Amino acid sequence: MERYSRQILFKPIGANGQKQLTEQHVLIVGAGALGTGIAEALSRAGVGKMTIIDRDYVEWSNLQRQQLYGELDAEHKIPKAVAAKTRLLEINSSTEIEAIVGDATPDLLEPLIDGVSLLLDATDNFDIRFIINDLSQKYNIPWIYGACVGSYGISYTILPGETPCLQCLLKSVPLGGATCDTVGVISPAVQMVVAHQVAEALKILTGNQKSLRKKLVSFDLWENRYSSIDVNRMKDSSCLSCGESRSFPYLSYENQTKTAVLCGRDSVQIRPNTNQERNLEEIESVFADQGLKVDRNPFLLSVEIGSQRLVLFKDGRAIVHGTKDITEAKNIYYRYVG
Ligand SMILES: [Zn+2]
Repeated sequence: MERYSRQILFKPIGANGQKQLTEQHVLIVGAGALGTGIAEALSRAGVGKMTIIDRDYVEWSNLQRQQLYGELDAEHKIPKAVAAKTRLLEINSSTEIEAIVGDATPDLLEPLIDGVSLLLDATDNFDIRFIINDLSQKYNIPWIYGACVGSYGISYTILPGETPCLQCLLKSVPLGGATCDTVGVISPAVQMVVAHQVAEALKILTGNQKSLRKKLVSFDLWENRYSSIDVNRMKDSSCLSCGESRSFPYLSYENQTKTAVLCGRDSVQIRPNTNQERNLEEIESVFADQGLKVDRNPFLLSVEIGSQRLVLFKDGRAIVHGTKDITEAKNIYYRYVG
């Protein structure tokens, strides 16, 4: 236990808390800036098992703040979940890591929930946050919301049956991370949100619930503002996610986004109705026959089509780069992938 000695010396955790950490399973949704920060910290802390889900692959523009990735990951377009797992096992081989390359839909997330004691939000969009919010309420698992943009960050810990949920807060609190503005982000803002999320996670995972923050925290590291808001009275008894007649609206099939413009990326993601495994090798040869330049790794292929670039994943999902126009992206997808 030499490895964890400094954490064990920290009284609120101690040997008991350390043992508890090794028995915990957390689900991290998203392996971007927040997800890599959270995953690294929890793996170093000795959390027993982590499931990490992400739909994207590593790009050069990620390296400025997504701390588990390096140049080779960007060069080879390695899916983030896969690259994260490789790096995390180098950091701590005793943490069990389940890496999932896919879109965080209820269909995919719900079967992963079994045995999970905490959900961590590391996504960049509200569609998925509301799915996490409903799953948390339905399965009675706490979750920690986190978002950042520019030099601004925000975090809140949601305990089912106790605190208001994200849906309750939506009406009255200006929640950050809602915009797709391309205002950029600086890494200290990411690290600050990660610090708040991981501290709360360690409290929950080591049985220190009494120390939880219980307030919504937000800050701007450039404007030098820090605020902590008591949102407890915002719990809404008519809330569809946590109220008396809750129906978990975001878990229903109708509310699942099929095609979405990706946040600040000039890219559209297309998810076909059926999850059908694609033979990337075959598709590559079709593209090659048309004289198109194709890159392929075991997880995805990438092809330049005019001024756009189509990236096709094994599960049939695709990202079309170079457009924000859903119709245009769909045309490219159905013309070339079918
Ligand atoms: Zn609610």
